[in-house]
Amino acid sequence: MWLGRCIRERRGRQLGHSLRSAKLTLLCLALTLVVLRGTIGAGQFGTPEQDLNQIRFRLRRPLVDTTSSSSSNAQDDGVEDPPRDPSQPYSLGPKISDWDEQRSEWLRRHPDRPSFVGPNKPRALLVTGSSPKPCENPVGDHYLLKSIKNKIDYCRVHGIEIFYNMALLDDEMAGFWAKLPLIRSLLLAHPEVEFLWWMDSDAMFTDLAFELPWERYAPYNLVMHGWNEMVYDDRNWIGLNTGSFLLRNCQWSLDLLDAWAPMGPKGKIRIEAGKVLTAFLKDRPVFEADDQSAMVYLLVTQRDRWAEKVYLESAYYLHGYWGIIVDRYEEMIENYHPGLGDHRWPLVTHFVGCKPCGKFGDYPVERCLKQMDRAFNFGDNQVLQMYGFTHKSLASRRVKRIRNETSSPLDVKDDLGLLHPAFKATKRIPSPWQSWS
Ligand code: UDP
Ligand code: MN
Repeated sequence: MWLGRCIRERRGRQLGHSLRSAKLTLLCLALTLVVLRGTIGAGQFGTPEQDLNQIRFRLRRPLVDTTSSSSSNAQDDGVEDPPRDPSQPYSLGPKISDWDEQRSEWLRRHPDRPSFVGPNKPRALLVTGSSPKPCENPVGDHYLLKSIKNKIDYCRVHGIEIFYNMALLDDEMAGFWAKLPLIRSLLLAHPEVEFLWWMDSDAMFTDLAFELPWERYAPYNLVMHGWNEMVYDDRNWIGLNTGSFLLRNCQWSLDLLDAWAPMGPKGKIRIEAGKVLTAFLKDRPVFEADDQSAMVYLLVTQRDRWAEKVYLESAYYLHGYWGIIVDRYEEMIENYHPGLGDHRWPLVTHFVGCKPCGKFGDYPVERCLKQMDRAFNFGDNQVLQMYGFTHKSLASRRVKRIRNETSSPLDVKDDLGLLHPAFKATKRIPSPWQSWS
């Protein structure tokens, strides 16, 4: 990877300037080929999909954790939290064994906060977040803003509550593990929430009209995008994705978080666990333990304990890998319409490996940002159309009118049904207008 970069950079600066640098470039290229032949081997790249998967295997995570060192509290107050006693196993919190009873008692005492807002409509809380500090790449903060604006739009239309976290609740669980202590705290603080929906900050809704098939998940406690065969048969570390998933508020989920967390504590534990994961899982590169690999590992090694309540969804894009989506938006606009959620009009486009907020992304940052703008505008057009506007193109921040202004604004047709959507309808409460008249 860095050899490739080395060639690109050298080329940009020096190509044509001297024969010596040309020779160096050739040498570099020859070295790259030798290294690639050694590490990848012939015949591993097959269909386009396999190629993409291969690229993802190799590039998904940076080898350096950009979040752990500078995210400690020492920066703010000069005081480091005392290190945990390493002889004690890591724990997310005091053991809770009767959460289902505690929660149903709370729900019984609070009939005004039901955990279902409609017959097949669980109360949902979308949770996302980012690091407590500003992005290393300043423009990254602008993309975090776009991403949360996009999520607010989806959640408003769909009657889903939203929580944005910027606090590192547990120093040991920095980076992609930060979601675990956060999720546990929120489940316990919000017994009224039936499903918590975690979504990464680098994932955006690209289908505002698609509603989750909630009834399908009635028998399940955890829903992730993925494939059973890839997880259970192949032990593939990208057989599922932990960038967008649903978790039911129940005892099972607390137990799952406890079983998921032990590979998370940063430092020696996370590094050693990374070796176990790389040895066990298919095609996983060498790097510290990540939450996604740990989830695959958990499901494969303790299948009897968990699998029955886990639904791996592939009928639509609960998570959609950006590499296979972003060049097809125009084709989708040409042929399809919002509300499908799958490859024809993906619910979510997730910029895995892009790290728009960090310094060390796996892809060139310009490519990521350009494609993130396109994804944002693609989703935002569905918001703007409610108000009679659209982006001039997927590449443009500017907008144009799509209909004339009228003196009867309430007669305007709401093409996608997003202004007053049926899926937002909650329990009927008498309108003050009705009771006063
Ligand atoms: N994250 C967080 N706090 C942090 C670092 C990361 O909440 O300090 C969240 C953030 O929402 C991010 C997610 O963890 O999107 C997972 O990381 P990332 O998306 O970079 O991983 P990738 O999807 O590229 O594998
Ligand atoms: Mn992500």
